[in-house]
Amino acid sequence: MSDVTIQGNILTPAGWLSGAITFGERIAGIHGAAADPQQNGDDYILPGFIDLHVHGGAGKDVMEGGDAVHTIARIHAQHGTTSMLATTMTAPPEDIDIALTAIGKAVRQRGKNEARVLGAHLEGPYINSGKLGAQPNFARAATLAEVQRLETMAPLRVITVAPEIAGHLGLVRELADEGMRVQIGHTLGSYEDGVAALEHGAAGFTHLFNAMSGLHHREPGMVGAALAHAEYAELIPDLLHVHPGAIKTALRAIPRLYCVTDSTAATGMPDGEYMLGRHTVHKCMGGVRLPDGTLAGSTLTLDQALRNLVGLGLDLADASARVSTHAADYLGLQERGRLAPGAYADLVVLDRDLKLKAVYIEGERCDLNDA
Ligand SMILES: [Zn+2]
Repeated sequence: MSDVTIQGNILTPAGWLSGAITFGERIAGIHGAAADPQQNGDDYILPGFIDLHVHGGAGKDVMEGGDAVHTIARIHAQHGTTSMLATTMTAPPEDIDIALTAIGKAVRQRGKNEARVLGAHLEGPYINSGKLGAQPNFARAATLAEVQRLETMAPLRVITVAPEIAGHLGLVRELADEGMRVQIGHTLGSYEDGVAALEHGAAGFTHLFNAMSGLHHREPGMVGAALAHAEYAELIPDLLHVHPGAIKTALRAIPRLYCVTDSTAATGMPDGEYMLGRHTVHKCMGGVRLPDGTLAGSTLTLDQALRNLVGLGLDLADASARVSTHAADYLGLQERGRLAPGAYADLVVLDRDLKLKAVYIEGERCDLNDA
C-alpha cells in the first residue's frame, strides 16, 4: 500500500493541527501548525469511531452466524466505525456457539470495506432474568469453565454480567484476571452490589441507565454506583434510550463515558419488522421496540452519535473521544482511537456539518457506496 496524504483540521492527542497526515496501514507522520478549527473552513480529520456494542445492521443480526457479521461490519463502516465488538444476545448455548464461531472467523479475516471486528461483547446469558430488557429469557448463572470454553471460539473482550446473581461476584475477579472487561448490566443489583463488583475487578457498565436499578437519593441503585465510582461506562446517545439531562449528568460524573450504538438489524433499514436474537421487533420513527413497547436496541450509528453529542453542547474534540479514544483506552488498545504516528490509520473525514466525507480503515479507503 503506497502512502496517502490528506489535509485538514487534524485532531491529535496534543490538540488540533491544521496540516497534513500521511499514512499507509499505519500513520507515518502528521505535519502542521496548532490551529483553532473555528478559524478556517477546512474538513475535520478524526480518529475512526469504535463501537463496543453492535448487534446488527443492514437486516442482519450477529446471532445469525455465518456471514452476517461481515455485512454488519460493512454497514457500520459506512457510518465511520472503523473497529467494533460484535455483540451476542442471551440465548441457548448452541445459538451463542454459532455466533461466536462466526465472530472468531471475522476477527481473523477482515473483508473489503468492513470495520475491523476486534472480538465479541458477550451480553448475556449471565444476566438477571428480572431485568432482561429485550433479551430473551435464557438467563443463567455463569461458570468460569463455560466462559473459558466460549473464549476458544472468539476473543471475549467485554462480558456483561449481573453481579447480584449467586456466584457471580467471585467470577467477576476471575474473568477480569483472564483479561476481559467485565461490565455490570441487565441487573437488579443494589448500589452495594455495584460497589462490590467494582472492588472485584468490574470495569464498566453496560448501556448506563438502561436495564439497571435507577438512582433514588435513599437507594442509589446501580446507576448511583456508576455515577459515584465508575471511570468508564457505555451509553446509548440516540436520545431515545436516555434523556439528554441524564446524559449530561453522566458526563459530569464519569470521566471516560463512551458511546455505543447497541444497534440492531434494523440499522440502515426502512421501518418494519426485524429479528433481534429470537425476538421479532418493530422499527418505527428511529426506535426499535418489542410489541409491549420496550426499547429493543437502537438504529443508531456512531456518526449520528457524534452529531448528537455536539448537539448537546460538547466540543468536537470531547465528542470525538467519546466515540473513539475512550473506548480504545478501555480495551487497552494504544494503536487505535488516536491520530498519532505508529497507530493504525483508522480515520474519518467530516465536513463542517459533521457529515462523513471519507473513512479509512487500516489505511484502506472505504467505498461509501458499498452498503
Ligand atoms: Zn445490547
